[in-house]
Amino acid sequence: MKYYPSTGWVDRPTHLEAPVEGEHHCDIAVVGGGVGGMLTVLRLAEHGRDVTLLESDLCGWGASARNAGYLSSTVGSDPRILAKYYAGRFHGLVRFADSAVHFTEDLMDHHSIDCDYEQTGILASAVTPSQLEAVKAGARILIDAGIDSEIVDGRDMGVPDAFLGGIYARIGGIMNPGKFALGLRDAVLASAITTFEQSRVLDVKDTGDSVTLDTSSGRVHANQVVLTNNAHAKELSITPRWLSTPVQVTAIETEQVAPSLLDAAGWTSRTPMVTRHMVMESYRTTPRGTIVVTTRKLKMSRGKITDRQPEQAIVADLIRAFRTRFPTLHDVQPAKAWAGWIGITPSVLPVAGYASPRVIYNSACNGHGLAQAPYLGSLVADYICGKGMHDHLKAVWRAKPKFAPGLVNSQTLQLAWLADRLTDRRG
Ligand SMILES: Cc1cc2nc3c(=O)[nH]c(=O)nc-3n(C[C@H](O)[C@H](O)[C@H](O)COP(=O)(O)OP(=O)(O)OC[C@H]3O[C@@H](n4cnc5c(N)ncnc54)[C@H](O)[C@@H]3O)c2cc1C
Repeated sequence: MKYYPSTGWVDRPTHLEAPVEGEHHCDIAVVGGGVGGMLTVLRLAEHGRDVTLLESDLCGWGASARNAGYLSSTVGSDPRILAKYYAGRFHGLVRFADSAVHFTEDLMDHHSIDCDYEQTGILASAVTPSQLEAVKAGARILIDAGIDSEIVDGRDMGVPDAFLGGIYARIGGIMNPGKFALGLRDAVLASAITTFEQSRVLDVKDTGDSVTLDTSSGRVHANQVVLTNNAHAKELSITPRWLSTPVQVTAIETEQVAPSLLDAAGWTSRTPMVTRHMVMESYRTTPRGTIVVTTRKLKMSRGKITDRQPEQAIVADLIRAFRTRFPTLHDVQPAKAWAGWIGITPSVLPVAGYASPRVIYNSACNGHGLAQAPYLGSLVADYICGKGMHDHLKAVWRAKPKFAPGLVNSQTLQLAWLADRLTDRRG
């Protein structure tokens, strides 16, 4: 099994853009070149703005290139919690998430990005009877809100017996996120946008008249700044306190699996699945004939986030999950493992707002940013360019940069994992 320090989806490009050097002036600077930041700059440039992108490493090489590749309309965690505690925002959030999927599909066409996208829909499935009732209750709320989904029985979905059924979202699907992120990077580099890679922003200061951004090799002066640095948000002191907590998500990919073995496992439809645990598990096939399994056990950072390889114990836990859900594939060996960092907000919802009069934060799409981070980036760019605040942006916008400490910490993550295993055992 090969452990990757970044992603197993694609090879790392060899050419990096040069870092910022000396003094650089621009109208708008964007910090963080993930899919969120890249869409922010692309949209700002479409509006004719003079924009500069600063990326610590290589654009797209953070969570954007490492995720499971689900283009999903899921927002937040449990729809019942969303409808109950965020009733005022609920419909806006659901519309935001739904539009984000269509927006990102259009984006692939617009930039001719070949990222193996398959419009499969996604099944959020229970693996125990008690989970099934909860999933159905949540599903009814989403269906009533107009989400293009249906409540399904696993036996009708061509999925293995372990997946009892739940809610099948007809929109969205799966892709190779590495190809998608690098495709967007190509679009950014081909544009007139000034892009500095290898440029970690160490400090952002809003002086009232302008904003300065310091890196180890140079300084950028901008009229406005957008922060799209996801899991690294709290490393900048201008970021609102408690905005998000960085957690590491792990993925494994198996060796090639013969189609006949998938059929024998009952996975005749190849529909991608996520489970409805407190911390989900995800299972999908790839065009290269492998299976990618993610999440299940999240990890906190002790100290600064770096491109650490996944932890062996978490990889072993993912393999255990795979063996449990797919017992007939007992001889299929895991071939790759990697991990990435995401920011989890206290509400587990995407958020945006002003960190200071000239600095907007636009980050923390939690585990659903593949569609939502680009869409949010484009909405923020439109807002900056005087297009007014779109209803979908209103749904995530926070009038004040104030957040309560979230529930995510090492202990609660461990408890969630234990609760999920208890649920499995009861099932
Ligand atoms: C294993 C895994 C599985 C996942 N599965 C899915 C999935 O299937 N579907 C889904 O929708 N989402 C999934 N996610 C989440 C999804 O990947 C993220 O929500 C999404 O990529 C967020 O995009 P982003 O642009 O906000 O962040 P990122 O891609 O993390 O980009 C942030 C960028 O900011 C840069 N940066 C940080 N600090 C600084 C600084 N100070 N100066 C300059 N640059 C900086 C980083 O280097 C990085 O490139 C998963 C994530 C992981 C890790």
